[in-house]
Amino acid sequence: MSAAPTPLIGLITDEIAARGPMTVARFMELALGHPEYGYYRTRDPLGRGGDFITAPEVSQMFGELIGLWAAVVWEQMGRPAPFILAELGPGRGTLMNDALRAARAMDGFVEAARLHLVETSPVLRAHQGETLTAHAPAWADRIEDLPPGPAIIIANEFFDALPVRQFVRQSGDWFERLVVSDGDDFDFTTGREAIADADLPADAPEGAVVEKTETAAALMGTLAARLVREGGAALIIDYGHTGGVGDTLQALRAHQHVDPLTTPGEADLTTHVDFAQLARAAHAAQARTFGPVGQGNFLLMLGLAHRAERLAAGKDRETREKIEAATRRLIARSEMGTLFKALAVTAPALAAPPGFENT
Ligand code: SAH
Repeated sequence: MSAAPTPLIGLITDEIAARGPMTVARFMELALGHPEYGYYRTRDPLGRGGDFITAPEVSQMFGELIGLWAAVVWEQMGRPAPFILAELGPGRGTLMNDALRAARAMDGFVEAARLHLVETSPVLRAHQGETLTAHAPAWADRIEDLPPGPAIIIANEFFDALPVRQFVRQSGDWFERLVVSDGDDFDFTTGREAIADADLPADAPEGAVVEKTETAAALMGTLAARLVREGGAALIIDYGHTGGVGDTLQALRAHQHVDPLTTPGEADLTTHVDFAQLARAAHAAQARTFGPVGQGNFLLMLGLAHRAERLAAGKDRETREKIEAATRRLIARSEMGTLFKALAVTAPALAAPPGFENT
């Protein structure tokens, strides 16, 4: 493979030359979050002209149903006013805009909500400012920077962008997967020292890969501790699994899969979210979790079919077909219906949130 020159390639090559092979987590951290050249710092990656599309960009119904979810949770919390309504990685602000429009159905919710957006990208902050100006959002770089108080926290396709470490099984031991450079191109190798880590499975077939999501787990720990301390609930939606699937590192550029090492800073780099690791981190902080449930079932429980019918009523054929196609995309097994999952995290006193009653 020959690497097209990106500003980050030189920088990563230099760091490897100075410090030795780099962990996959460090590579992801630089590729996505480098303050100057990181993928998310430099562009709006969403939509047709970008690299990938997300559920809120597929249909307004996604954000609307999440708005109704938040409104019911607010009732379950005892209608605190004011309360923090926060979103992690809000992209273009589409989800929150649709959510707040739909949540007007609940008397007092929008008036009580103080909107806080956790976002590191200046490009996307500008987008969010335009979309959500009527709701006077405040921005934070990190969850820790959110003000205290009861909160409802939403995160769609946020956790998949957090760095993970990978470990490879070789000759009965675990070795960390590392990135090396020959001066031009990057490649994978494994560390020389076997890793003793109680979190890694005691046994696995030769060549097996496991991923450890230390950053996501720490972030979940902070979030869960906050919910336990201040009250509230979080809704995490992402593509992922509940463990045991191996290497899920992938890169997307212009809606195509590309080699994850070839164009750092120019392609979206993600892994599938390990919901079991996230739930464990939430439990360690004494929070409760519900799910994960498949996105399709979750949205149907929240009334997607009914909402689609209402939205299509009286519309021309082309619009009706678009609504049908979007509905299918959100819930079909072959599309986003089962790979994408919803996990709720709550303070221990709260009842099961909408969509999680059967879990
Ligand atoms: N939720 C949106 C966007 C998903 S893309 C949607 O569903 O359309 C991922 C989002 O997370 C972007 O807004 C990106 O800028 C933000 N992001 C990625 N890493 C982040 C980090 N470490 N801290 C804060 N925001 C981050």
